[in-house]
Amino acid sequence: MSILIKNVNVITMNKNKDIIEDGVVVVRENLIVDVGDKSLISNYSDCQIIDGEGGILIPGMVNAHTHASMVVFRSLGDDVPDRLQRYIFPLEKKMVDEQLVYIGAKYAIVEMLLGGVTTFADMYYFEDEVAKAVQEAGIRAVLGETVVNFSAPDCKESYGGLDYSKWFIEKWKDSQLITPAVAPHAPYTNSEESLKKIIQISEKYDVPIMMHAAEMKYEFEDCIEKYNMTPMAYLDSIGMLNERFVGAHLIHVTDEDLKLIKERKVGISHNVGANAKGGKGTAPAVKMYKSDMKIGLGTDGAMSGNTLDIITQMSLVGKVHKLINEDRTLFPASEIVEMATIGGARALNMDDEIGSIEVGKKADLVIMETKSINMQPIYDYYSALVYSANPSNVDTVMVNGKILVENKCLKSLNIGQIMYQIKSVREKIQKFGF
Ligand SMILES: [Zn+2]
Repeated sequence: MSILIKNVNVITMNKNKDIIEDGVVVVRENLIVDVGDKSLISNYSDCQIIDGEGGILIPGMVNAHTHASMVVFRSLGDDVPDRLQRYIFPLEKKMVDEQLVYIGAKYAIVEMLLGGVTTFADMYYFEDEVAKAVQEAGIRAVLGETVVNFSAPDCKESYGGLDYSKWFIEKWKDSQLITPAVAPHAPYTNSEESLKKIIQISEKYDVPIMMHAAEMKYEFEDCIEKYNMTPMAYLDSIGMLNERFVGAHLIHVTDEDLKLIKERKVGISHNVGANAKGGKGTAPAVKMYKSDMKIGLGTDGAMSGNTLDIITQMSLVGKVHKLINEDRTLFPASEIVEMATIGGARALNMDDEIGSIEVGKKADLVIMETKSINMQPIYDYYSALVYSANPSNVDTVMVNGKILVENKCLKSLNIGQIMYQIKSVREKIQKFGF
């Protein structure tokens, strides 16, 4: 049976950024088959009806960079310097196993769905466990096994992620909801030889490469010292930058790097919340957006940014860039909603399928209710979404034509059981002695 969504203000995010007030969207199986005003209702007699009660219907949001399972470490060592080398890597080595990854991923997916995220891009260990959680929940995801130059939780040999990636890609390449990828951790944790193998895997299977790049100051300085090139120029010199490459962060980039990023059609995940909290600086997102680069928004892992929803990121993107540039006209709210939806889809090369409300696209949709105190009054839908809304306003979430959240309740997973599991993981981590 088809589903007809009515009594909603439709933020299409199509090319013209059309808004249809009191609009209607019809979904059949996993696709959007009709979009228009309320006169469409009379064309459809035998449909399941969703009454949006005057809410705002938006394309499902895309979290373009995260490490879902790291949610188990949230609020641990937040203000500690050099956290990555001193805390995160040793903690992961001792604590991360299949069960932790699976439980963490499920918990993170609950948070993302309840926050209106319908697609997330993930890089971590035991990525097959994340894939299982994705399948159970019914969310859409791009998943890449991490490749690093040291013994990882799921592989004693350095670069074990390479073989894992091949196996993982073979296993999931025909999945409806999962796009497998390969995920070198960063330029400073991979040798040139390993990166070249990653390029081969990406070409052979036509899968994305997801990687932290130009994130750290020391990464930039070391790269200049070692190769006399910036991290982005170095990656390009070995043939890594192309339309399949999705770079997370891209903070330390020169104007020449920006040209390269644009020319090579590199996808960008702008992770403003995590970068602000880490005191790392921020990517030149205004320049990136204005130059028509493929820029979306990401949360990074919840140990870095503490939240996994994109609504929080939208508000931060606007405020941070207006603040550092001392210019309130930068990043009008419609541009921020664009980055949160179709922009993220572009960054992941999925904009043919998702990211806007148009006939033929996959039915990944979110209704934001407008009845809560914090949402009124509304003079501008985009502003309401970026600056008034919070994840608690997410009322209905559909992924691939299936309703996963209804009246703010998750339908596909048992939250009580997941909460219980996450508490038992917390106890183990607590005993670890941090
Ligand atoms: Zn990250």
